[in-house]
Amino acid sequence: MLSETALKFACSCSRKRVTDTIQLLGKADANDLLDEKGIIEVICDFCNEHYQFDDVDVAQIFALSIVPNGSSNTTH
Ligand SMILES: [Zn+2]
Repeated sequence: MLSETALKFACSCSRKRVTDTIQLLGKADANDLLDEKGIIEVICDFCNEHYQFDDVDVAQIFALSIVPNGSSNTTH
């Protein structure tokens, strides 16, 4: 029996978790990264899984997370 296999399966990362991380990063910093590289790539330290977010993905993350109360007057 190899315990390494168990360790790999213990990783609980997911695209949802990475999405939360980008939310914590903030919209401004996320957009800075997009400007720099064109894409945000997050690599899990534990299982080495790669998650990629382009400008559309990032826009969706912040569109979903920011719901201002009683703000019906949005300018664009
Ligand atoms: Zn992982």
